[in-house]
Amino acid sequence: MASSQADIVSLWQETAPPSTKPLRFTGSGQADVAVIGGGYTGLSTAHALAREGVDVVVLEANRLGWGASGRNGGVVSGKFRIGFAQMARRWGLDVAKRMHEIGLKAIDNIPDLLAEFEIDAEYQPSGSLRCAHRPEALAALQEECDWLGHTLGDSSVSMLDACQMTSETGATGFFGGMLNQRGGVIHPLKFQRGLAAGLRAGGLAIYDESPVTGIEHLPRGGLNLHLPQGQIRVQQAVLATNAYSSLTAAGGTIRRRVVPFRSAIIATAPLTGTVGSTLLAEGRSYTETRRMMRWFRKSGDRLLFGGRGAFGKKNNASGFVALEKAMRRQFPQLEGLEITHRWSGLVAMTMDSLPHIGRLDDRLTYAMGYNGTGVAMASYVGRHTAAMVLNQPVDLGLINGLALRNVPFYPAREIGVRLVAGWYQTLDAFGK
Ligand SMILES: Cc1cc2nc3c(=O)[nH]c(=O)nc-3n(C[C@H](O)[C@H](O)[C@H](O)COP(=O)(O)OP(=O)(O)OC[C@H]3O[C@@H](n4cnc5c(N)ncnc54)[C@H](O)[C@@H]3O)c2cc1C
Repeated sequence: MASSQADIVSLWQETAPPSTKPLRFTGSGQADVAVIGGGYTGLSTAHALAREGVDVVVLEANRLGWGASGRNGGVVSGKFRIGFAQMARRWGLDVAKRMHEIGLKAIDNIPDLLAEFEIDAEYQPSGSLRCAHRPEALAALQEECDWLGHTLGDSSVSMLDACQMTSETGATGFFGGMLNQRGGVIHPLKFQRGLAAGLRAGGLAIYDESPVTGIEHLPRGGLNLHLPQGQIRVQQAVLATNAYSSLTAAGGTIRRRVVPFRSAIIATAPLTGTVGSTLLAEGRSYTETRRMMRWFRKSGDRLLFGGRGAFGKKNNASGFVALEKAMRRQFPQLEGLEITHRWSGLVAMTMDSLPHIGRLDDRLTYAMGYNGTGVAMASYVGRHTAAMVLNQPVDLGLINGLALRNVPFYPAREIGVRLVAGWYQTLDAFGK
């Protein structure tokens, strides 16, 4: 089932304890609910269902942690792809407040999960810093910071000037930045594997290398899930396949509601000497304000630099070269330092830039579309997705309040993504 992406060894794979042997589903079985996809969304949903006494089974097509949950940047944040002020303008202040609260709850859920399953995933609640690459970007950050403080009463945000940015990041050239004390960084694969191991230890059935290849609606209710070596009869299923919804036909219509966008990461060899001690000394996550947003963080003594680009369907060398060039431009002091790891994965973009949970019909529920910010959110939405499965009330603001719409011109999505990415890169290059 795994594509060429599995061949690339990420820094996370190299630094996490070895994965357990795959546990494939074979034969025929039954359960109340099947969760399809074993990333943060699938595991958090199964966790919440099991807590409610539901007989639940998780079916993952690849090895556990193969998807975005095992290969992301490990930035823990409660933000959405659209800002809270924009939400207030579009949907009203109460909605913006609720979404802000959901973001904070998602962040707070991370240490709770780590404690519950005794996971050491190197979580540092060190906050995040947004770095303005132009004066106009700094003005926009200042406006956002004021709005968050005055209107939402968020006291965790503050502004840094250009000098403070240099001492915080070790990079020159930023005009200032906005510091958010909430959130931090984590080892994403240790987190994912820790969750899976903890849930398995508690008796939850989690199968990997077990792709669901088809979902059959049975005339008298329930579903028959087809797998290469078996089938499972369930009352309901949850699609937690996010950007990988096109892996098999089981993705059905849901795959047309997200655009998979390739995101890539490079990691340096360990930093030493003054560079090692001065670069990103506070150990936060850092994002640039460019349209084709680049981000960076440290993991141990290595620098990780990531971003989205016009990568297309597969990993491509020129995309990594562009990322490395951007890193060396930002941090000239890294001259000569080797890049030891290069990897990528797919993020799921939605038409309204928001994640969504919802129902396709009375038997199928979905949760997806984190637009590249799913570490905290995907780990948090599970309890609400479980409530939806159980027909309990769900109040997750726009996440369940708005429908996940189909992507128009879906067959042309790849070309569209690359055109938009290319155009954004051009605008960034010209400082627009
Ligand atoms: C390179 C990269 C960097 C990122 N950086 C960050 C970051 O720093 N911070 C942040 O908040 N977010 C980040 N993200 C996004 C974040 O990783 C995702 O939003 C989150 O992991 C989504 O979790 P998920 O469980 O919904 O999806 P996934 O973890 O992708 O899991 C979906 C799973 O479904 C499985 N599947 C698909 N079809 C089937 C089938 N038919 N049968 C069985 N299984 C199936 C797939 O194999 C896959 O494992 C990043 C993503 C990428 C790719």
